[in-house]
Amino acid sequence: MKRQYKSNKDFLLYNTITKQKEIFKPLHPPQVKMYCCGPTVYDLLHIGNFRGAVFFNFLRHWLEYKGYKVTYAYNFTDVDDKILNRAKKENKQMKEIADKYIAEFKKDFQALKLKEHDHNPQATQFIQQMIELIDTLLQNKKAYTVDKDVYYSVKNFPNYGKLSKRKTDELISGARVEVDERKKNPADFALWKSCPDDESGWDSPWGRGRPGWHLECTTMIFSLLGNNIDIHGGGSDLIFPHHENELAQAEGAKEGPFVKYWVHNNMFTFGGEKMAKSTGNVNIMRDFLTEYNGEIFKYLVLSSHYRSMTEVSENKILQCIQALSRIYTFLKTAKETTIQNKVSNNDQSSTFIKEIQSAEQNIEEELSDDLNTPAAFAVIFNLIRQFNEINQSKRDIGEAATHAKWISDIIMKYGKLMSLFQESPEEFLNKLDDIFLKKNNLKKEDISQLVSARTEARKNKDFKKADEIRQQLLDMGIEVKDSPSGTTWSALRQ
Ligand SMILES: [Zn+2]
Repeated sequence: MKRQYKSNKDFLLYNTITKQKEIFKPLHPPQVKMYCCGPTVYDLLHIGNFRGAVFFNFLRHWLEYKGYKVTYAYNFTDVDDKILNRAKKENKQMKEIADKYIAEFKKDFQALKLKEHDHNPQATQFIQQMIELIDTLLQNKKAYTVDKDVYYSVKNFPNYGKLSKRKTDELISGARVEVDERKKNPADFALWKSCPDDESGWDSPWGRGRPGWHLECTTMIFSLLGNNIDIHGGGSDLIFPHHENELAQAEGAKEGPFVKYWVHNNMFTFGGEKMAKSTGNVNIMRDFLTEYNGEIFKYLVLSSHYRSMTEVSENKILQCIQALSRIYTFLKTAKETTIQNKVSNNDQSSTFIKEIQSAEQNIEEELSDDLNTPAAFAVIFNLIRQFNEINQSKRDIGEAATHAKWISDIIMKYGKLMSLFQESPEEFLNKLDDIFLKKNNLKKEDISQLVSARTEARKNKDFKKADEIRQQLLDMGIEVKDSPSGTTWSALRQ
């Protein structure tokens, strides 16, 4: 099923607020302003925090590939009760805790080799602008003060609920609404909360206090990107109340619409449970990177559609390793084949080249349909399978080199947008071997010894012994290959 677009810049993107896929048209092309809610920094982050980072990294590259100039801001929430509690526990200032975990986030982010954001604002750098925004909301009768606190008045913003599609009545009975009898309406939320003098806080016209979480993002967007932006991203768990409240603040203060496209990635689940830190069901990114690596994580994220729940399990990770192994084995073969043989450019009429070209079209179409990365990967695997079939049965090495070059160019082109498949194939396959050995409690030295013993037996024409050792290695999941240049081994990952 082929969809026709008016321009090759066009693609479909699902918009949470209209609940449908829309052809993406930015407010002021070629500019695209994009903001994504980053983490609250009080601990090492769990892998769920990075699903958005990986997906929105791809969306950013995709927009640039489509010819747009993207400005992307990703924030840190560095003022929050969770940070404060940790600071109290460790007898430190809130800033020390926040700075420490921002630095830890950056280590994980770098290990993932994602593109740097244009802005990484921290909430505490925008306190004055937050106070000004609260002031505007008070003047617009969208907020009211109670003692030294300021609340947003949901009843005074008739559009409240338009993003999450919740009615104010439902909100009132909702369990996640904070209970405070001083509020005019239970759904009202804090813009400014007073705090004691000995706690981290800032002076304001209402007294010493701290800003509400929702206020931070609206303020940073206004300050860095403007009153109206193209894309606001985040996890689907932020739609309500966080993004609903951001919208109410923004459009309660300035001319809307605040955001043209609301884009939300879905959650990871573990054994069917939603990934949430409060359940204690935690998988820390640092541990994932130690146990596996960033490439495996990025593949794990993008092998599911961003709007699907993704079950994370050992088995799922193993499937990702196998998939990456197939792709990198192909890339390694392609590299060797094209180095050894001349790639012919006169071969473009062959049937398989035509199929490769139409496969590239398919990838483009799948990605243009709301960034369907798993469907794009399926096209790539199909190409690799066809390549292996054709080049096993037919031995025209020049033609194989041409095919290999075409396919690897496609993998590298789209992989680059996803920050995937850019590793050296040899080194990456070695890393996968290492993971396999570690998981199976095997040591490299032991395998090398067995391989040498087999080579020795072959030299001595003791083929029975050589075969026995080959079988012993196979039982361990290790395959040996003999070639004129010597014997090599690799883990059987598939
Ligand atoms: Zn936010």
